[in-house]
Amino acid sequence: MATRPEMGCGVRGWAGGPVMRPGYAGAVELRNWGGTYRYRARALHRPRTLAELRGLVISCRRLRVAGSRHSFNAIGDGDELVTLDDLSGDLAIDHDAQIVSLPSHLRYGQLAERLAGEGLALANLASLPHISVAGAVATATHGSGIANGNLATAIAALELVRSDGQIVWLRRGSPDFDGAVVALGALGVVTRVVLDVQPAYEISQHVYEGLAWDALFEHFDAIFAAAYSVSVFLGWRDRIDQVWLKRRAADHPAPDELFGAAPAPADRHPIAGLDPANCTPQLGRPGPWMDRLPHFRMGFTPSSGQEIQSEYHLAREQAVEAIDALRRIRPSFQQLVQVSELRTIAADTLWLSPQHGRDTVAIHFTWAPDQRAVERALAEIEAILIPLGARPHWGKLFLAGAADLAGSYERLADFSAMVQRFDPHGKFRNRWLEAHLLGAD
Ligand SMILES: Cc1cc2nc3c(=O)[nH]c(=O)nc-3n(C[C@H](O)[C@H](O)[C@H](O)COP(=O)(O)OP(=O)(O)OC[C@H]3O[C@@H](n4cnc5c(N)ncnc54)[C@H](O)[C@@H]3O)c2cc1C
Repeated sequence: MATRPEMGCGVRGWAGGPVMRPGYAGAVELRNWGGTYRYRARALHRPRTLAELRGLVISCRRLRVAGSRHSFNAIGDGDELVTLDDLSGDLAIDHDAQIVSLPSHLRYGQLAERLAGEGLALANLASLPHISVAGAVATATHGSGIANGNLATAIAALELVRSDGQIVWLRRGSPDFDGAVVALGALGVVTRVVLDVQPAYEISQHVYEGLAWDALFEHFDAIFAAAYSVSVFLGWRDRIDQVWLKRRAADHPAPDELFGAAPAPADRHPIAGLDPANCTPQLGRPGPWMDRLPHFRMGFTPSSGQEIQSEYHLAREQAVEAIDALRRIRPSFQQLVQVSELRTIAADTLWLSPQHGRDTVAIHFTWAPDQRAVERALAEIEAILIPLGARPHWGKLFLAGAADLAGSYERLADFSAMVQRFDPHGKFRNRWLEAHLLGAD
């Protein structure tokens, strides 16, 4: 790994040296998980202690935090990056209060293993366990379930290093809290989080195949209410490919057929035809929550690996109209889709959450990794969805700019004021934030 300390912020104590961008001798390219975005940052800092991190924050003019780099856009990029992966810190469980305090860079898979060992669980997980808690929370990453909030709603408190190096704790119920949880990295470096936990539980997965479009539209609410967490996978063909029901013990028994869709006779991969070996077990075999809520198993390459993702969040009442409108223009995007997924997420109060104030249906696209073609398709898709009030997933690829989204978030002005207060010199701002959220002042 190349080391050019004079390029960095000049702070003592960062180990490992910066990763230099291509063009420098010994350069190491830094890309996102999908390999579709190349970071332009010229340094990656690796503080080992909170004191080193504070020193770095104080001395840097511009800094962004890198999580596990699973986002599909430039949200996490900037002149210089810091990873918290080498930061020391313990995980502490309070069984009475049903909370866990942890270093924010932990991956959900690591956290889940520790919790399971203590007989505890999280309310929900995303489709894969490899993402960092802080990065997921910063972008309102979600799983599915009509009564389940996104993963950020499990945050009870967080520790933040502000741009002046000051460390602040924000707790649920305090005035700034709802603005600071889904903050897209704009307020500072989140170093620790406290999450709600609950007693461990089991989940069993049942997959149904070949749902008719009419059945989806007619029984939309009943399908998504059929289990604790429900995912609908489709390739925009003549029928819906698969419906995955993730049931808890108290849920209704799994039906023999789901509005005409038949139970799959073997384990399935969400992308029809791919080997399900890296997917979590199905066929109704019960198992621990963390081995069933994600679609993909820890230790395996998740999803297809060669992909771009986009996702749009609509108010539940708008969902059928939106999906039907997309179905009508499917020739303009279908050939690029590896798979789409529909999920539901409960409303919350977090200012920049796509679920703020409304129960939501998320329409997701896993695309072939052809950025230009995907952007052309997104222009058509957004022409339909943005006027319907769609809010894009912050961590996935979308085109809508700050002006398009200004009306979508009623607390945006409050958030902008908070950014100004926490980071008056724009240390944590980047071009992406200006283009898609804050505008260039
Ligand atoms: C295969 C795959 C599957 C996915 N599945 C889902 C899914 O099921 N549901 C869903 O909603 N999304 C999903 N995503 C999207 C993913 O959850 C988000 O992009 C998420 O932000 C990734 O977290 P990360 O740690 O990789 O964050 P990064 O991409 O590294 O960063 C995202 C943002 O978080 C900020 N950030 C990271 N750490 C900190 C910190 N400590 N302090 C302050 N800011 C910080 C960064 O600065 C950046 O702005 C998936 C992505 C992939 C690649």
